[in-house]
This record gives sequence, structure tokens and C-alpha cells, in this order.
Amino acid sequence: MQYILGLDLGTTGNRAILFDAEGAIAGQAYKELRQYYPQPGYLEHDPEEIWQDTYTCIQQILKHTGISANAIAAIGLSVQRETCLLWDKTTGKPLHKAIVWQDRRTASMCRQLQAKGQAKTIQERTGLIVDAYFSATKFAWLLDWVRDKNININLDNILAGTIDTWILWKLTGGKVHATDHSNASRTMLMNLAQGNWDSQLLDLFQIPDRIMPQIQPSLGMFGETDPQLLGEAIPIAAVFGDQQAALFAHGCDRPGMVKCTYGTGCFLIAHTGEELTRSHHQLLSTVAWTQVLANGRTATSYALEAAMFTTGACIQWLRDGLKLIDSAAETEHLARQVTDNNGVYFVPALSGLGAPRWDMSARGAFLGITGGVQREHMVRAVLEAIAYQVKEAIEAMNRDSSKAIEVLKVDGGACQNDFLMQFQADALGIPIERPVVLEATAQGAAFGAGLAIGYWTDYQKLCRSRKIDRIFEPGTGAIQAQENFHTWLKAVNRAQHWVD
Ligand code: ADP
Repeated sequence: MQYILGLDLGTTGNRAILFDAEGAIAGQAYKELRQYYPQPGYLEHDPEEIWQDTYTCIQQILKHTGISANAIAAIGLSVQRETCLLWDKTTGKPLHKAIVWQDRRTASMCRQLQAKGQAKTIQERTGLIVDAYFSATKFAWLLDWVRDKNININLDNILAGTIDTWILWKLTGGKVHATDHSNASRTMLMNLAQGNWDSQLLDLFQIPDRIMPQIQPSLGMFGETDPQLLGEAIPIAAVFGDQQAALFAHGCDRPGMVKCTYGTGCFLIAHTGEELTRSHHQLLSTVAWTQVLANGRTATSYALEAAMFTTGACIQWLRDGLKLIDSAAETEHLARQVTDNNGVYFVPALSGLGAPRWDMSARGAFLGITGGVQREHMVRAVLEAIAYQVKEAIEAMNRDSSKAIEVLKVDGGACQNDFLMQFQADALGIPIERPVVLEATAQGAAFGAGLAIGYWTDYQKLCRSRKIDRIFEPGTGAIQAQENFHTWLKAVNRAQHWVD
């Protein structure tokens, strides 16, 4: 019996899931990842911890299931996107902690680019809106830091990468320095139409192209694990950005098919076919995935995306920052203790605002607080704000498309929350379709790897094997939820342009 291992290296934690030939879960392991907040607006991860946790998760699965490493036919890797780092290829050590996608330290660099009139060229070349979210300014910051600190390092020894590149390098014992098009398309350094590093942008950000990884098709052979790690050389046969992996798992492989993942942030993505489609409503154009066809041609699937930075992260902040709750799951119970939000609205701009407003200077806010407001109302307002953010993004996506979204396929950790899902259906006025397995990211990575090596041959059948857990239809709360949306929009306007 052979299995496929899907790795989902996310923002809040690292997960490994083993899938059998039917696509069912045979074993899984998870480790929560430590978040470092060195200054307001900064967020870092320890790359060594990401690697150690990934390795530990794989070892734990093998131990708990009793399955041996030689029964793993291939590994598929999906990662949090945009987060990036530099490391020394001679020592294998990161030079600095990884700068996480939510980190805002390069906002002023982005504003300078906008002031110099570079935003249009960057958008044309990369499909992205200039924002501290993407890797380019983070790489530039890291390289400046290396130069400023006069660290005793030969720049020729430096390698750059997003998390997929780092983990690929570690898994292959330092043999492979590569990424795939879906991750590369989030760096703001890849030419979206051509699928390679854009030399003009590398020059603009002063990033030497020799430190950048090779860009390869998402479904395809990236290398083999170092036999010293697991006792076997296991092929790594797919690499995706986490959101693109989830899109792949949902079977969204044709224009108009849409999914929304509710994790640290919310990511609404629509497949747009093999033609690069541009948004007129502040959405991102991006690569969904690439693959080599039988005739040798590399086919690119494109997507339009609305990225919302802090959704599940607000729940984590209620738990770890405010200590208002003990667990994320508790929010559902608390929100149901009250019949409404009692006039309280939350703006989830803890890392600025992404689509469709793209305001790096917005900050989080509670508005409408009066003396009668209780903890339950505040928690409910946070859940409602997650749903309202998605509603605003869906409205932008509908304006970009000739056909309105009729049903929303969802996944991700925060989807477990029935209150949130029902409120989302009420606010949108369309059904929400929740699968049994919410780990669509790991599933997508595994599906990609299994299909790339011929372990599976029928993608559609594989996607159909995913069972629906529940469909949330708009209910009695719909009228109120939709009315309150307008007050929430007013609250968001108040929280915009807050910091310089
Ligand atoms: P990521 O891949 O971004 O790390 P996950 O898909 O693993 O995210 O989901 C984790 C996020 O989901 C966390 O931010 C957590 O706060 C949130 N979350 C988990 N369970 C719930 C729940 N029952 N209700 C609301 N949010 C939840």
C-alpha cells in the first residue's frame, strides 16, 4: 500500500497529512507555530522552527501510523505565501528571522514606489497591487539589513526564498533551490505573463538574480528527500502556495469556479482559465498553478484573488492578545449567547486592509461601544467582521465578472465555526458549501503530487471524492445581517488612513 504526503506549512502552524489511494486521511500531525511581534506592525517566524516542526510532523505520522517511509510515493508541499527569508548556503543558517506576509515594516518603501509612479508598471508586470504584503520589499529590507549590519558574509553565499524554497532546500539536503509559479507570482518579482523573474523589477528592488530560486511548474518533479532524513529518497512532486493548493483541491479548474479559505486571513480566489485576466476592482491577478502537458508545453492556470489579511488572526488576538477567550472554538458559543451585536462593529485591520481597499495605514477598531456592551457582543462583532470582509470582497469579484457567484465553497480552520458560516450565508444571501475535510490545502498539495507521479490519474474523480459536510443556506437573520453591513462599511471608513 502506497500513500501521498501533503504538507501544509501555514501561518499559524505546520501540518502533515498522509492520504491513501482513495484520498482518505491515513494519518496527520500538527504543530502550532510561534509568532514573533518585535515591534508594532512587525511579524516574524523562525525558519529553523518551521523546518524542525515540519520534520517532526512527518516523523510523528510515520511513528503513529506504523507506515514506513518507503510507502510514501510522493510529497506535495504547500506553504504560507509571500513570507520570505535569506540564508547562508554554506552554513545552512537563516541570516534573519523570516518576514511574514502580514508584516508592515516596508509600508513606507511601498508608498515611495507609489509616489514615484511605479505602481502601474509593477501591476502590469506582476498582476499585484503595490503593498508591503508581497515579498519584494521584504527581500529588499533583508538585503539592506545585511549590508547595514556589515555582517561578515559573502553575498555570493546568500540564497533567497519563500517558505517553499527554504523547506525544499532543507528536505533535499541543500540540493534544490527552487520554487513554483504559484509562489513566485506572490513575490512581486515574477513577470506574470512570462513566468520568470522580471529583470527590471529585480533591478528596481536591488535584488541580485543569482540569489533567487529557479521557478518550476507547480505539478512536477522538484527533487527527492535526503535519504538521511527519513531513510528514503522520496520524490517531492508538487509545490503550491497554500491558497492555490486549496483551489486545486476544491476542483476549481475552470473559469468562474470560486473558493474562500478562512485561515489566518481570508482568501477568495476565482479560476480564470489559461488567459491572464486583469481586475478592474482592486483584485490581484495571480498564477493558480502550472503544469507540463503531454506535448511538453507548460500550461498556466490564472486566477483572480481577493486577499484579506486578518480574519482568523483576529480570533487568535482575542485569545493570545486580549485573553478574552480561551480557545478559538469558544467564539461560537459566546456569539450565540447574545441575539445581536448590540451596535458594536469591529474593523479587522490589525495588519492594514487588503482587498479591495488596500490601505496599509488602516488599523483595527471597535466602534459603537456603549455601557451595555459585553464580552459576548465584542466576540460576535469580530466574527461578523470576518463575514463582512468576505462580503465586500465578493461584491468586488462580482463586479469584475459577468456572472455573480451563486455558491461559496469554503475551507480553513475558521470554517469550523457554525455561527460564522451561518452568518456568512445570511450576509451574502447565497449558500455556503463546507466540506468534511477542512484541510483543503494539504489535500491540494497531495492531489498535485499524486497526479504528477501518476499515483492518481483522474483529477475530477479525486475532487468528487471530497464529501460535503453541510450547506448553510441564508436564513432568518439575512435581512438584519445585510442591513448591518452598511454600518460596518461606515466603521471601516473611520479606521482607514490611521497611521502614516
Ligand atoms: P493558517 O493556514 O493560516 O495557519 P488554518 O486554516 O490552520 O490557518 O486556521 C487557523 C485559524 O483559524 C486561526 O487563526 C484560528 O484563530 C482560526 N480558528 C480555528 N478554529 C476556529 C473556530 N472554531 N472559530 C473561529 N476561528 C477559528
